[in-house]
This record gives sequence, structure tokens and C-alpha cells, in this order.
Amino acid sequence: MEVKETITHLKSWFGKQPKAIRQGVAVFLVLALVVGGFSFANAQSACAVVVDGQVAAMAKDQAQAEQVIASLIKENQKKGSNVKPLQNITYQKTKKNGDIASEEVLKQRLSEKLTFEAIASGIKVNNGLKVAVKDKATAEKVLAELKKEYKVGPEFKVDFQEKVAVANVPVETSKILSMEDAIKRLKGENGVPRYHTVKEGETLWEIANKFNVSPEDLQAANPNFTPERMQIGQKIKMIGAADPLLNVVATAEKTVKEETALPQQVRKNAKLPFGQSRVVQKSERGLKEVTYKIVAVNGLETEREVLNVNIIKQAKPQIIERSAQTMVASRGYRPSGAIISPFGKRGGRMHTGVDLAKAYGSPVGAYNSGRVIRAGWYGAYGKCVDINHGNGIVTRYAHLSTINVSVGQNVERGQSIGNVGSTGRSTGPHLHFEVIVNGVPKNPVGYL
Ligand SMILES: [Zn+2]
Repeated sequence: MEVKETITHLKSWFGKQPKAIRQGVAVFLVLALVVGGFSFANAQSACAVVVDGQVAAMAKDQAQAEQVIASLIKENQKKGSNVKPLQNITYQKTKKNGDIASEEVLKQRLSEKLTFEAIASGIKVNNGLKVAVKDKATAEKVLAELKKEYKVGPEFKVDFQEKVAVANVPVETSKILSMEDAIKRLKGENGVPRYHTVKEGETLWEIANKFNVSPEDLQAANPNFTPERMQIGQKIKMIGAADPLLNVVATAEKTVKEETALPQQVRKNAKLPFGQSRVVQKSERGLKEVTYKIVAVNGLETEREVLNVNIIKQAKPQIIERSAQTMVASRGYRPSGAIISPFGKRGGRMHTGVDLAKAYGSPVGAYNSGRVIRAGWYGAYGKCVDINHGNGIVTRYAHLSTINVSVGQNVERGQSIGNVGSTGRSTGPHLHFEVIVNGVPKNPVGYL
């Protein structure tokens, strides 16, 4: 009964006070209730969002925090399905006042603290996970696009060199790639161009070699770049420098009609005066039907095997008679064949040599005596031989089907160094011939 007595006592005291004091006390009590009530309510609704044991942000209440996390999950659902945060999230009611984040700030803080995992579609190469994309349909599209890109012609069958599988995998959403990025990653392009700064004494060809790209690709990536005017400190863009994670093999049996031309035959004739020659038989092009088995890896031809040759018309060689007293030739051995693509700019790209029409398998002779400095696969050049003739002159023979020499070997003028082919970036059998003087390709026509 003590409380009741106190209230009765207070009431009687309050009744005895003057009106002004009674009003003042009433206003004070109302204000005290309002202010006190507010701060009491605020202290109750604060909610600490605890991420892996640490307070990440202060929310108005648990419902607000959960709503913000739900919206973050929803945003991550664009990347994959079954999205969930990787961290342990708990909520703690707290009376702590004053530090409650706005919804925007709350979202910002939580997106910094949280990482999400989703079920994505992983592309596995030889059982190793290489890339992950949103779903199975996207993964299949990535693989189909790669095959499509490296299908060299309509008659080609394409397949992957490695064992490829698509499977659902849990992946951090930041590591799930778009279709375009997944294709680039598998092709070995990271999408970010790298730059090389030219150092003293470096040539474009040395740089290309160092980064395992062909000089032709380097030129294509740097269209405004002139090798002759290369300067120390200049930046050169490097592309496609990484190894592909997945290789596409295209194979076809292809039958094509090819013109054939036999090399000149030179006979000596003692009756002819000094320095004179005459044509005793005009050359006539022949025609044959050749069936090849062609293999291209990632769009570059690596093998070409002759399955069948059907001669439709025999070729006749040009026969020349020369005086037995001819001088020693001062010029190089001319690789025979008509120029089908000249030196110089070709569709925005620099063609660093000449393409000579030559039948598949025909022998290729060294331009002059020299030392073999390259004999093997060389990017877009395919099977390639470089011969150093001294005095800063190097000749290059590209797209060969076979190579008969090795690095370090000395060769004589006209000696067979290999056979015509179509390896590397090539649309058909021909000889790509280059003359490189002091590191710069020159028009070979001036040297033939
Ligand atoms: Zn060429």
C-alpha cells in the first residue's frame, strides 16, 4: 500500500501548489516522457550486424539488416544460383546509440565485408576447373563459340584437344565470368593488353620472339608503329601472349585443284657465246587434283598430309640453255614462283615478305650461303627457317611443310632447306620469303 499512499500524498501536494507551477510541472513531465521515450526506443532498436565474430555495421533493427543482405544476394543472383554469403552472420540487439548507419551506408559496409558463393557452371579441362560461368547454357555457348571461331572452313570437323566437361560447382561470385571473358580466358587472352617498353638495341623481331608472338601479330596490334623508327622508351602493345587453356583441333580432308609449275632446267651449251642464254622450251603449267588431310590447332595449320594426287595435266619445265662460260652469279638464288602477294601494307597490316606460288612439297633452296639461325615452329609463320648470310642480311622461309636443316648448320646457295607447305597462318600452300636487313624487313624483290 506504500505506492498508493505516496501517489495520494503527491496528489494532495500538487493540488495545493499555484496554477503556474502546476502547469510547469505538467509540461516538464510530458517533455520528459517524450524525450525519455525516444531515447529508450532508439536504444532498443539498434542492431549490430556481426560478420565472422566482428561487428561490421550498426543497423536500425535486424529486419533492416536482413533486407539489405537479401538485396545483396539478389544482385549476386545475376552471376549464379543458390547464392549465399560465405561468412557467418549474427545479429545482436544493443542499446548503443548514435552510430546507426543509413540503409545506403549499411549496404556499402556489408558488401565490403561479405563475399558470396553461388552454384555456377564450371568448365573443366582435363579434370581441372578453368573457368566458371552463370549456368550450363552459358558454358555450352562458350564452348560452341570457341569451336566456331577455330573452324577453319566449312569442311572442317572441330573438337577439343583436351578432355572437357561442364559441371555445377560452388564458386565465389566475383570469380564467375561473363561469356566474353570466359572465351578470352580459355583462349589465353586476359583481355588486358600488356605493354613492353623498348630498350636500347632491341629490334621489333627480338621483342616478338621474347614474347612468343609473331612480328606480324605485333604489327597488327600496333598499326601506327614503324619498326625503322622504333625508339628507346617507346611502348609496344602485346596481345595474346598467354598459352590457351583449351585447344581447338580442326581436321578436314580437302580436295583442291592446283596449278603446277616445274622449276627451270638450265643446260650448258658450249656453242653459245659468253654470257648468252636462250629458252629452248617454254614452260607450261600443269594441273592436278590434290587431296589433303589438314589439321589446324586454334586456327593455325599444323599438319598437312597428301592423301592422293591426281594429275590432270602434266607441267612442262622451262628449259634454258646457257653459255658454258657464264660468270659466277652475284645475286642470290631466286626462289621460283610467281609473286601472289607482294611486300608492303596489306589490309592495314604489314606484309613483311613476298608470297610465292609454289606447289605443296616442292623444295625450297637457300637464297645464299649462310648459317641457319632458326629452324622450327614460329607462331603465325608455322614451320620456319631463318638463314644469316652475314653483313646484317637474314632470309626467312615460312609456312614450310618440312624442314631439312637445323640451327647452327651451314648451308650452300640453293641448297634445299625444306619443302613448301601451309603451316601457321596460311590459306594454302605457298612460300613466304623475307629478306631482313639489320633487323628490318626489306622488299625481297630488290634482292631476287
Ligand atoms: Zn606472306
